[in-house]
Amino acid sequence: MTPDFDHSLNVYAELLVKVGLNLRAGQRLLIRAPLEAAPLVRAVAAHAYDGGARLVETIWNDPQFTLTRYKHAPRDSFTEHSDWWWRAGLEYVENGNATLSIVGTDPDLLKDIDPKLISTARRTEGMAAMPLGRLITADAVNWCVAGYATEAWAARVFPDLPADQQLPRLWEAIFHTVRVDQPDPLAAWAAHSANLIARTQYLNGKQYTALHFTGPGTDLVIGLPDNHHWIGGPAPTAIGITNTANVPTEEVFTAPHRARVNGTVRATMPLNYGGNLIENFSLTFRDGRVVDLSAERGEALLRSQIETDEGAAMLGEVALVPHSSPIAQTGILFYNTLFDENAASHVALGRAYRNCISGCENLSDEEFATFGGNSSATHLDFMIGSAEIDVDGVNADGTREPLMRRGEWTLSLSG
Ligand code: ZN
Ligand code: ZN
Repeated sequence: MTPDFDHSLNVYAELLVKVGLNLRAGQRLLIRAPLEAAPLVRAVAAHAYDGGARLVETIWNDPQFTLTRYKHAPRDSFTEHSDWWWRAGLEYVENGNATLSIVGTDPDLLKDIDPKLISTARRTEGMAAMPLGRLITADAVNWCVAGYATEAWAARVFPDLPADQQLPRLWEAIFHTVRVDQPDPLAAWAAHSANLIARTQYLNGKQYTALHFTGPGTDLVIGLPDNHHWIGGPAPTAIGITNTANVPTEEVFTAPHRARVNGTVRATMPLNYGGNLIENFSLTFRDGRVVDLSAERGEALLRSQIETDEGAAMLGEVALVPHSSPIAQTGILFYNTLFDENAASHVALGRAYRNCISGCENLSDEEFATFGGNSSATHLDFMIGSAEIDVDGVNADGTREPLMRRGEWTLSLSG
């Protein structure tokens, strides 16, 4: 690629090490990445070692290899998995080391595959990875998820562009959303982080008992547990390092009360479900549980996702993102949750982040549930925000405050 691209990729790598991971001298780093992302992985490793990392290792994946399994492996073999894959992550996390995941899946990779196989494989992997997932969602160590533009992904995002312009265009968009195109990206992140933290402090002080989302196809009340805690931007980990787990990130989020969600919500964006799209879908909740759902595409996938376990049919996250977010303003539908969830308010079915309810970090699943926290093998984000959605904060005495109107914060705060 061009010298400009190489420079931007290097700045991006530096940002992932210094802001995303805030990697400390003496730590090890485990990276999971697609083969195509090798140039970024190498640059991240260089910055990590320059910052004092002792060891950087990578577990590579290859989407075409994944597809080969779906096409050729025995149909009854998708309940099988090997433990080393997750134990590698556990070894890192249990020893206070960092992990980085790089994503860039073709949203249509698995479009011709039987949805039953996909959901069986996802359920199997989700169950196997649960001990690791639990530690990660308790922010046991510094971890980060970031994107890498791949050819197939770029082709899906920009189908109308000539083939040779798709990948550069997606890179341009990614570099914009992660502020690599700003004169001083690290300073831009410091200012952005301060804004997100100011927003969480405001919301933490409010301690609303519920949020009420209204808009076309949506009338949803999401109860919030006592002592819920909003997180946005840099957050502390159990080992004392503060890091930014998603790059990009524009959201502030907390845990819903698992049993106090009522009403109907319509998704405002398609959802890339591990290489298959779920589109134009709606869910109805009663006392926290999904009691009805419909989808124009991918309904079987959504149903099987919800049947994964008890917590998979309940919410574990509610996140607020203004429509003026730089990602929403690109007007690009990324078909990738890391990017799309930072363009719109969203919720997640499944596991809640333990540190979203004060004092719950080390509780068992059963104890966590008594505080309203949800546990599951899965965590599936989907977007419910747009320029047509209003959000009210509901106080304990039933009075309401407008929090967002037509997708924007009613109150501007600065950090
Ligand atoms: Zn989120
Ligand atoms: Zn989430």
